[in-house]
Amino acid sequence: MVEPLLLISWVVVSPIVGAIIGQTRNNRALGAVLGLFLGPLGWLLVLLNDAREKCPECKGHVADGAVRCQHCGATFEIPAGYELKKP
Ligand SMILES: [Zn+2]
Repeated sequence: MVEPLLLISWVVVSPIVGAIIGQTRNNRALGAVLGLFLGPLGWLLVLLNDAREKCPECKGHVADGAVRCQHCGATFEIPAGYELKKP
């Protein structure tokens, strides 16, 4: 039999871990949902389900709004409507 306290902490902790993993993949909501329902398997799925944009040169994943690839150094055009923050 599963301890109720253990079950409650699992229901709280599992989606949080999933969301943290999902955040690194630009997919926080999916990470939370998969973490809640599938646990460690959901964490693994969201790790593999990478929603970040890909570099056209090396096909490596790059951060949202990046203007330069962190893997090969290729520069990207700044998308229309995207403004660089001024200091
Ligand atoms: Zn690249």
